[in-house]
Amino acid sequence: MAKAVKGPRPKHVPMRTCIACRQERGKRELVRVVRTPSATVQVDPTGKLAGRGAYLCRMRPCWEQALQGQRLSVALKTTVSAEDLATLRAFAATLPETLATSSGRSATGPSGARAGDRSQRNIEN
Ligand SMILES: [Zn+2]
Repeated sequence: MAKAVKGPRPKHVPMRTCIACRQERGKRELVRVVRTPSATVQVDPTGKLAGRGAYLCRMRPCWEQALQGQRLSVALKTTVSAEDLATLRAFAATLPETLATSSGRSATGPSGARAGDRSQRNIEN
């Protein structure tokens, strides 16, 4: 009864690369954009839609970069229609300027320079 003992399996975190900044991040930190079988391009918040996917950081600059050039089209091997582009732009507009580190995770090192204070702007609405 020599049953093979499974070693402690390393927790496998799927990594994906942002198509704009090329930063490798955990899948959940990125937003998936998918080209659906019906050839539309849309945001896939669940990451479960069928089709060819591309990943972008949850911050506006990466989206703007990807939507401005051909990056998204190249990554998805399709031409993003003006309509889909508008939808993606609208989604991008809801994203923060920088990656907001959500609560619970402290991924930054101890010697992080605190440079954010001056750039803090009041949002007038
Ligand atoms: Zn990025």
